[in-house]
Amino acid sequence: MSSTLESRVWDALKTVRFQRMSRDIVAFGFVRSVELEGSLVAVTLEIATRKEDAVAQLKRDVEAVVVAVEGVGGVAVEVGVKAPKHPAQGAQKAVSQDRELIPEVRHVIAVASGKGGVGKSTVASNLAVSLAAEGYRVGLMDADVYGPSVPILFGIAARPKLQGEKAQPFQKYGVKVMSLGFLLSGDTPVIWRGPMVMKALEQLLGDVEWGALDYLILDLPPGTGDAQLTLSQRVPMAGAVVVSTPQDVALVDARKGFHMFRKVRVPILGIVENMSGFVCPKCGEATDIFKKGGAGRTAEDLGARLLGEIPLDPSIVRGGDSGEPIVVQQPEGAVAEAFRNIARAVVREVDAQAQAEPQLTIS
Ligand code: ADP
Repeated sequence: MSSTLESRVWDALKTVRFQRMSRDIVAFGFVRSVELEGSLVAVTLEIATRKEDAVAQLKRDVEAVVVAVEGVGGVAVEVGVKAPKHPAQGAQKAVSQDRELIPEVRHVIAVASGKGGVGKSTVASNLAVSLAAEGYRVGLMDADVYGPSVPILFGIAARPKLQGEKAQPFQKYGVKVMSLGFLLSGDTPVIWRGPMVMKALEQLLGDVEWGALDYLILDLPPGTGDAQLTLSQRVPMAGAVVVSTPQDVALVDARKGFHMFRKVRVPILGIVENMSGFVCPKCGEATDIFKKGGAGRTAEDLGARLLGEIPLDPSIVRGGDSGEPIVVQQPEGAVAEAFRNIARAVVREVDAQAQAEPQLTIS
């Protein structure tokens, strides 16, 4: 009973915006917690602004929508206010917190999924190559410590060279690439405990000569474990792209991913629906093998954007196996076009997130 009440309260919070911001307070990660005790609800918000009036208005708006929720007997709203960082820093605010690890990286983007096998690495790779093709300086770090697949997707089977203290990333299809897969031998399964995962990820960030990048794409392991938490604590992230197939079961896991990122206060840039429908190459008929459209509904439910849909296409598997992402192998095809559109949507979302904070300080 209380869980449905809680979800109704979250839904109500999604109708509230702070000033004229483009999205609601849940989507922007301003809601830190919702706690219930019987019919009493305590909502805690945190926001960076200097505008006391706007905070008072926000508090009133939240109280009004929550108290109107069926089953709510009373509400207490607490707003924690931080001083905003210098507005001009905008997009770069994140990296300034942790300069020593990746000092010249402007935006870190995590590509995540609730479960394995949904095409997260495929999306991360094609996103990285598409961004590079648009002229950005891009790195791809394979943080999937339990099953690094970027070496195969990029067709690289060599060991990275050291220059001084630092490992040189490989450069292919315009992208700087680094993976633990380059350092581990063959088929050895990786069974690591939390602290080792943390150490390995820190090394992949800090001991690699990433240089100046516009975007560093992190291919995270599936799920919501140590690696995700470590990375979101160690490097300030511009946001996360969540990959899901349209089936309910995958979407349940995607929702868990959403909630984890919200907890660690990483903005969700949006969701990519992968394996969304199948177009028969022989007859051209479209079949929705995994109930196309599920990710779109989940995105809407969670107040996030649907960044794009990628169909189930055998040439994606062939591209992956041959070390040529499909955007390289068939740049004129519909799938490559879909990836390019996703890359552009990601750029727009990162910019929107970066502007959100300065916007708060404009009078
Ligand atoms: P994850 O990183 O989520 O474990 P991968 O990106 O490794 O998933 O993809 C798992 C398998 O599914 C790979 O063989 C990949 O080529 C294939 N795959 C991914 N996306 C598609 C798609 N849209 N159509 C067909 N096969 C796909």
